[in-house]
This record gives sequence, structure tokens and C-alpha cells, in this order.
Amino acid sequence: MQSEYKHIMYKGKIVLEHRKIMEDIIKRPLEKEELVHHIDGNPWNNNIENLKIVTKEEHMKLHKKEPKTVELICDTCKIKFKRLLRMHKYKTKNKYKHKYCSKKCCIIGTEKYLTGNKYKGTSKFAKIIEKGLKKGLTPYAIAKQSGKFSKGTVYFYLKNKK
Ligand SMILES: [Zn+2]
Ligand SMILES: [Zn+2]
Repeated sequence: MQSEYKHIMYKGKIVLEHRKIMEDIIKRPLEKEELVHHIDGNPWNNNIENLKIVTKEEHMKLHKKEPKTVELICDTCKIKFKRLLRMHKYKTKNKYKHKYCSKKCCIIGTEKYLTGNKYKGTSKFAKIIEKGLKKGLTPYAIAKQSGKFSKGTVYFYLKNKK
């Protein structure tokens, strides 16, 4: 198996090349807690400009992989935004088809979606409601006469009527 790092022979010992190069640069042995990081992410690129001394904590941060994202367009504000790929896969799998860049856009979008759907349902009764209104009936009376919906449906229809 190929090692993650390049090793070289130095004074009869196998040493890590990038650490040896760094020691040559700073002209002293590296401390155990001084790690040598490869800036471009390629552990075989031991060019001096690609090497940097870091602490263990710094090194862990540097190697924490940037999570993959996908670029989407928000359904509400139509601007591009990034969503974690993991989250996107989950949402797609679970049929969450709406894409929102923020909580605010999500609320606006969801409201619009729900209102649209509810209105579609209500508009089935549009003719009955309109007829009743022409006769001057109250929402309650219209609903009662129809026997199919409540007065709330009539109010909802009136509120959302374009
Ligand atoms: Zn590193
Ligand atoms: Zn948005």
C-alpha cells in the first residue's frame, strides 16, 4: 500500500520528507506537536511553498472537509443558494420538492403553496358561492344551502378571490 506521505532515507533512517524539508527550512528539529500541513491538499507536493507548520488543532480544522453542497434556486425569491448535498439528497428522497434559501422564504413559499391548494379546493364551489352572493345570501346561508361546505370556505373564497 502506498503511504499517504513521501518518505526518504536520512542518515540511515526512514523519515517523512515534508517534515525533513521543513526542518531544513527552520534549521531545527520539529517539535512533536508541530505538524507540517500541505497547503494544496496534496500530501505528495513537498514544495516549500506548499508546506506550513500548524498545531494539532489548526491541522484538524484544516482537514475537516468542507461539506459538499448543491446550488439551487429559491422558489420564493429566485436567487441562487447552496444547500448541503446530504440534506438535499434526503429532501429529494422524501419528496420535499420545494427549495427555499431561508426560513423567511420557506414561510412565504409554504403559505403561498398551501393557500393555492386550499383555494383550488374552494374554487370547486365558486359557482355555488357566486350564485348565493348574487342572491344576497350570507356566507352562512350559502354554506347551509349547499350542504357541501362550511361558511369558513365561503370566507376563504372571498378572501382569496382575485
Ligand atoms: Zn495537512
Ligand atoms: Zn429565497
